[in-house]
Amino acid sequence: MADTLLGASAGMPLSKAAAKRLMDADGGAFQELLAAARERRDCVWSGYRLTFSPKVFLPLTNLCRNRCDYCSFRRSWGQKGAETFDHSTTLGWLDRAQEQGCVEALFCLGDTPETAFPEYGALLESWGHGSTVDYIEWSSERALERGLLPHTNAGILSPEEMARLKRSNVSLGLMLENISPRLCEAGGVHRNAPDKQPKKRMAMIEAAGALRIPFTTGILLGIGETSEEIVDSLVAIADVHRLHGHIQEVIVQNFRARPKIPMRDAPEPDDVQVARCVALARLLLPEEVSVQAPPNLNPSATRLLIDAGINDFGGISPVTPDYINPIHPWPHLVDLEAECRDAGFQLRPRLPIYPDYITRSGFLTPDLEPHVKAAEERLAQVRSARDLAPPSTSTSAFSPPQPNVGSV
Ligand code: SF4
Repeated sequence: MADTLLGASAGMPLSKAAAKRLMDADGGAFQELLAAARERRDCVWSGYRLTFSPKVFLPLTNLCRNRCDYCSFRRSWGQKGAETFDHSTTLGWLDRAQEQGCVEALFCLGDTPETAFPEYGALLESWGHGSTVDYIEWSSERALERGLLPHTNAGILSPEEMARLKRSNVSLGLMLENISPRLCEAGGVHRNAPDKQPKKRMAMIEAAGALRIPFTTGILLGIGETSEEIVDSLVAIADVHRLHGHIQEVIVQNFRARPKIPMRDAPEPDDVQVARCVALARLLLPEEVSVQAPPNLNPSATRLLIDAGINDFGGISPVTPDYINPIHPWPHLVDLEAECRDAGFQLRPRLPIYPDYITRSGFLTPDLEPHVKAAEERLAQVRSARDLAPPSTSTSAFSPPQPNVGSV
């Protein structure tokens, strides 16, 4: 296995069989796995920089037609806590995000709520929107007017809907979560979630590639999958990227238990398991694919994740809580920056579209180019201000108070 890891650290493809064996790596083998992933990251994502996207998180609605056993976000129409942002709420958050120096407007919501809740469809209608995608498009245009770059993850979208959103979004996303159809069967966490059928999700991810849309996907750990299914999921993502070249980043996300969900007592993946999966993602995915893990879901493991080969922390909001995981607040950037520095890295803000996709033909809608350029210039100013400032004040552009958690 040492030779295999040496080859992988130098860029040789890691076989599925070897990856499956490495899912049990512990002790010295675990350290060797991490070292190989780290070396690969340092070779390809050079400059000793780790990135994050300063974002505002906009769940335009928390209604969803699915019921995943691990979800604390979704609501039904009329249920306590159900919320759909009206225009003024959306605009208010966008204004605050602009004031706080965010660059990304993340529209993250459940699957086609209008197909399950006619009252919601009627509400959208009364606001002049024929569908959730209509409302996302309207909101994305308002975000662009404020200098924010939209990225949407709204569950399963048709090719037509994705083509439409490509006009106002610099990237789209959909978590694969896991490639195993077993999780949709009786007793599985997705048994009540028709949109979590992996075939459906892979079809959308592939369609996004055919449309040349920069795409974010990822895996969710701790939802009843086997180690082998984790590797199969990463390999499926690698394969679709080799076909279309559109996967800009892969999120390795871990399940966290929360009260009042069917999985409230389920075991959570431990830090070592998350780190192992991060390292394998780094070695199984083509080298240009960004690998990220959310720091708020792994608050005591930042250094371990860095050592396992992440190059990115994903979106961090100075304005809104993580609505999907509201009891796990995002870290204060001062603390995250200090941890990165201790590991020998600089923490840098980035755009929700990765640099390669700005210049590669067909990926960025020409009408969005000036918006991306303006956002790049703003980030460059922030970076140079941070580089010049002493450490104690260097996060002034993105140093929010802790978000008000638990509002969803
Ligand atoms: S995880 Fe997503 S798809 Fe599943 S119930 Fe929650 S919002 Fe809906």
